[in-house]
Amino acid sequence: MRASRTFDILYVMNKNTLFLIALSTLSVLANAEDKPKPTPEMIKPEVTLSEADWKKRLTDEQYAVTRQAATERPYGAIYEEFEKQGEGTYYCICCGVELFTSKEKFHSGCGWPSFYDASTAKNVLERVDHSAGMRRVETLCKRCGAHLGHVFEGESVSANTPTKRRFCINGVALNYVEKGGKAPELLELTNAAVEKKKEEVAKEAGVEVQKP
Ligand SMILES: [Zn+2]
Repeated sequence: MRASRTFDILYVMNKNTLFLIALSTLSVLANAEDKPKPTPEMIKPEVTLSEADWKKRLTDEQYAVTRQAATERPYGAIYEEFEKQGEGTYYCICCGVELFTSKEKFHSGCGWPSFYDASTAKNVLERVDHSAGMRRVETLCKRCGAHLGHVFEGESVSANTPTKRRFCINGVALNYVEKGGKAPELLELTNAAVEKKKEEVAKEAGVEVQKP
């Protein structure tokens, strides 16, 4: 009798444990779906400057949008310019890396520059953003972490584009250079990043790095 009772208790415990494990697995899966695995680049961009240095390089509006994730006013002067721009390339205003070209540009009528894809996908990061009380996918410059805007899917405005996606980008985050123009210079890596890279390369080659 006692043995059977012990067995019952163990059985109930196991059932509960299994239930709890199942629940926590589901919760982990749900979270995993919502939070894409952060890549090292997401955590630490290649180019890192102090806030004071970014402020020196950018206008107040560029700083607010790219470094503080603000949103520019829709249908502003920059949007009107964007609508008139012809063939060309759009570079990151902060670090100069290529992000979009006029080939992926389309007229969405939303009031912000719209592209259906990034010209160089490896330069644009996407991550889930829960700010402003909604779930959106934020887009950032992979090289310097600049906030660019958001990407939306399944809307009627982008239904006729090859990707059916709308990269809704703040115009102030972009540096437009018309076709045939000179690309902006890439912002140098910080000294700390350069030193780290040297160490990584040396480590791979099996060389001891001499530190001062
Ligand atoms: Zn950048």
